[in-house]
Formats: sequence, C-alpha cells, structure tokens
Amino acid sequence: MKRWIFLSAVLLLTLAVGCSQPADDEATAKKKKTTFVTIGTGGITGVYYPTGGAIAKIVNNKREEYGIRATVESTAGSVFNVNAIMAGDLEFGIVQSDRQYQAINGKKEWEGSPQKNLRAVFSIHPESVTLLAATDADIKTISDLRGKHVNIGNPGSGQRGNAIDALEAAGINWEIDIDPEQVKAAEAPGLLQDDRIDAFFYTVGHPSGAFKEATSGRRKTRFVAITETDSLVQKFPYYAKSYIPAALYPGAANEEDTPTFGVKATFCTSATVSDEVVYAITKEVFENFEAFKKLHPAYQVLTKKSMLEGLSAPLHPGALKYYKEAGLM
Ligand code: GLU
Repeated sequence: MKRWIFLSAVLLLTLAVGCSQPADDEATAKKKKTTFVTIGTGGITGVYYPTGGAIAKIVNNKREEYGIRATVESTAGSVFNVNAIMAGDLEFGIVQSDRQYQAINGKKEWEGSPQKNLRAVFSIHPESVTLLAATDADIKTISDLRGKHVNIGNPGSGQRGNAIDALEAAGINWEIDIDPEQVKAAEAPGLLQDDRIDAFFYTVGHPSGAFKEATSGRRKTRFVAITETDSLVQKFPYYAKSYIPAALYPGAANEEDTPTFGVKATFCTSATVSDEVVYAITKEVFENFEAFKKLHPAYQVLTKKSMLEGLSAPLHPGALKYYKEAGLM
C-alpha cells in the first residue's frame, strides 16, 4: 500500500513536471521575444511626456499579441530626441515638425549633416510658440523683451530655435538685446514665480502643466502675442499661425485668445527600427483612435487625416504598410 502511494506520488510528480515543462518553455520563448522600445518625450510638465505615456499604454495593452514593451523617457526635448534616435539610444521620439524638417534637410542644429535615417510615423497635436510674461515686467509685445531676463529654452529643446526665430522676426538679437536664460521649460514657471526671470518661451500643446503652474502662482502673468508671424510663415514652410485659447488658463490676465505661430508634434523613429514594431504601434494608435484622443485635452482637434500632415522625413515602411492597409493612403 505504502509502495503504491509512493509510486503514485512519483507518477504525479513526473506528470506535473512533464506538464509544466512546455509551459515554461513557452514562457521563456515569449520572454525572449519581447522587444523593448523607449519613447523619448520632453519635460514632465509638457504634453510630450503624457503623449509618450498614451502611446505606450495603447501598445502595451497588446503586449501578448506583439511582444512589444514600450517605456517612456523624459528628455530635453525635440533636438535631443532626434539625436538620440539617430544614435540608437531611443527607438522613438516626439519631435516638433520644424525640427523634423531641419534634421532631414540638414538645417539649423544639423547644418550640413542631414539625418538621413530619420523616419516619420505620424503627427500628433498642434503646438504653439508660447510667450508668457509677468504682468509687473511691463511686457505687452515681443519688442518689450529688450533688456529683459527671458528664458529661451535649453539646447536640446525644440522651443529654443522658435524663440530665436520669433525674436529675430521682431528685430531682436537674443545674444545682445535680451538677458537670455537657457534652462528647461519645466524650471521656467518656478523661476518666473520667484521673480528670477521676466518671461519665458515654450513651444507646447495646450493645455499644459507648465502653463497651468506658471499662471496660477502669486505673481500675475500674461500671454504675449507674437504678431510678426507673416514673415515667419512665408520664410519657413513648417510654421503656421495659431493662438492660445484664453479659456484654458483662467489664472492668466488675458481675456482674449493670444495670436502666435506654431508647429506640430510628430512621432519619429529610425530607418533601422523594424517594420513589424513600427507597424504594430501605428496600427494600435489608429485602431484605438477614439480612446487615444481621450487621453489628453490637447488631442481634441486630432483627425486621422491631420495625423498624416506635417511630416517631412520619409514615412517609415512599417507605418506606410498600415496606412495603405487602412485606406488612409
Ligand atoms: N516642443 C517641446 C520640445 O520639442 C516639448 C514640448 C512638450 O514636452 O510637450 O522640446
């Protein structure tokens, strides 16, 4: 009897081990197959960071199906993202449409060295070149920035170039005519509230955490119109007129919308990232479009069509495959 129990136990154990074996192998196979991708974004008070999170969330929901695990990284911004994608440190990144154009065509930061492997995936929300000033600094137009302490943005950000373009269009040399600060946008609201700067530029979608923070402090603030936009829009194909809705920031002194100019946030990758991965991400974002749109108020204006506009780098073949399949192209 005892012997019988012992034998049964051995048999059961063998069976159990036998059964668990294939499952283990399957699990290892799946694990081995997981492709990790990192999405470069911007500062955590911007819109890129939650956008990276929104894309990652949608893709990670299908982790079993695709074996893709997306994570998000807070970075210095557009210019940094392009360079990190090109260096292979990031698989994806969110990049201003103007920066995408400059990188692929070898202009500005990439003067003479076009980033040939940069690939476009889709466009996302519009971004406005936004200038916020303390009301006590007496800045009503961009020309009033002369002699003021102004954050134009960190090297690596998208906004630094937009601030310089806006200043130049108003006849202001940023190195001579203003007292420039070059810190990250996430630090600017604190500096403004602490009386350490008079104004700052940030190119971002609205509403954004950065401007909520900057407009709800003790020191009163106002969005400053950038009206020298005709020349900018004529000179640069990637700029378009835009405005900042007053209703989004009740803490600011503005009663009306503020005219300015803007670009688009775009989702970029490298030609070296596989078609399968780019296809899967593109497909999941587009097939879950309504759910995606709900993830941030800055996406309100998105349409599937608008997400295919503002791209100047060649489309990644993985994205193109989906657009053709879905009849979007
Ligand atoms: N447009 C900014 C940049 O390219 C980032 C804005 C954001 O993080 O939402 O650096």
